[in-house]
Amino acid sequence: MYDRYSMVADDFIDDGEINETLRFADENKHNRELISSIIEKARNRKGLEHREASVLLACDIPDLNDEIYKLAGEIKKDFYGDRIVMFAPLYLSNYCVNGCVYCPYHAKNKHIARKKLTQAEIVAEVTALQDMGHKRLALETGEDPVNCPIDYVLESIKTIYSIKHKNGAIRRVNVNIAATTVENYRKLKEAGIGTYILFQETYHKASYLELHPTGPKHDYNYHTEAMDRAMEGGIDDVGCGVLFGLERYRYEFAGLLMHAEHLEAVHGVGPHTISVPRIKHADDIDPSAFDNGIDDETFLKIIACIRIAVPYTGMIISTRESKSVREKALRLGISQISGGSRTSVGGYVVPESDDDSSAQFDVSDNRSLDEVVKWLMDLGYVPSFCTACYREGRTGDRFMSLCKSGQIQNCCLPNALMTLKEYLMDYASPETRAVGEKVIQEQLQEIPNPRTREVTGRHIADIENGERDFRF
Ligand code: SAM
Repeated sequence: MYDRYSMVADDFIDDGEINETLRFADENKHNRELISSIIEKARNRKGLEHREASVLLACDIPDLNDEIYKLAGEIKKDFYGDRIVMFAPLYLSNYCVNGCVYCPYHAKNKHIARKKLTQAEIVAEVTALQDMGHKRLALETGEDPVNCPIDYVLESIKTIYSIKHKNGAIRRVNVNIAATTVENYRKLKEAGIGTYILFQETYHKASYLELHPTGPKHDYNYHTEAMDRAMEGGIDDVGCGVLFGLERYRYEFAGLLMHAEHLEAVHGVGPHTISVPRIKHADDIDPSAFDNGIDDETFLKIIACIRIAVPYTGMIISTRESKSVREKALRLGISQISGGSRTSVGGYVVPESDDDSSAQFDVSDNRSLDEVVKWLMDLGYVPSFCTACYREGRTGDRFMSLCKSGQIQNCCLPNALMTLKEYLMDYASPETRAVGEKVIQEQLQEIPNPRTREVTGRHIADIENGERDFRF
């Protein structure tokens, strides 16, 4: 029985409710009047319910689809301006006891190189990431209680935060590790993590059980209820996502929004971010073996509809996607992207050859961080290395209420410009720096509050003179 307030996965991700939603969406995909009224409702920038958003996703009327894309772009601009937050993944360990059939880390894969970074290797990887200019990481591990216990993850976080190299420091560590206990989430919170990220993979329970045939991840309810345990453990920024390609995308889309509605209903705050990974080729994995792959057009429509349905939720795209798809996705709603990523364990220090790979999937965007930063600015965006909100305690519902009131805008652009300035001073190529200095001068004028504009300008001059780490 569908109940968004229930703490049981089968109730808040009720299969019957999703099927009913899909039926309703399908019946109304040509219903001009209904679709127009949903678009009108979405214009108030307060989001949509899963049934409404599912109708937009199904919409089959070209001029209304154009309106959907246009609105997604406007909402994106209203909430996130031109800023794009930068991050990089850091793979700590690929030991895994699970049997996920789409993932090369699955326990039965005997030809992938198994690796786990020592603390000294972590120092080397993070130093390499800092030398690129990164300030924000997403830690990635397989699930293995013996080879990769929680204490190892906690020790690694401590190591990462302790590394100060030249002018660099990692200021926010997000964590993407397997579903765990409230006690372990509490420990992660105490270790100072930013967002806890966990992809649902699929919300379809029967498929989930088949796609995760063995290992602790087989437990659908334990996995699906992980965000509730994370929040109980004090982590109020959580990141959701599904792996597109495993199940029918409309089912996943409805499930994702129902998950967000559940978190908002029970904890007063929805997900901080939503990621939109698509299955990629990897060692032992052929994406064409999965029947539900989506083309680029569908993928972009999903992104636009997520943007409209949950305007306050950041949206993340990784280097699984190519430069051209990323460019389109940025316009429709993506607010965070990775750059210069390596998906192998130890890959920032020693890039791997194909025959000794520990990589999780093939990367489609192989450009360096500097190239990505310059490309973003050429497209009119402001790459941001900001980590201020979480360091200022603006997390969970505090972040969301500031965001909803529009107040957040007073901090974000100045913080983006100051961290971009740091990047330009410490890491950028001369070409990128030249473009960036222009962007900063132009964007400074966009800061509405004159006092904030003046202080930001002063701090940018201070950064030029060697000072670092200012924030609002
Ligand atoms: N092991 C952790 C867990 O159990 O949730 C998560 C870390 S895993 C390194 C990060 C994510 O990569 C997975 O949640 C999955 O969605 C994604 N992934 C796995 N195989 C993939 C593939 N072949 N192509 C694209 N993404 C993949």
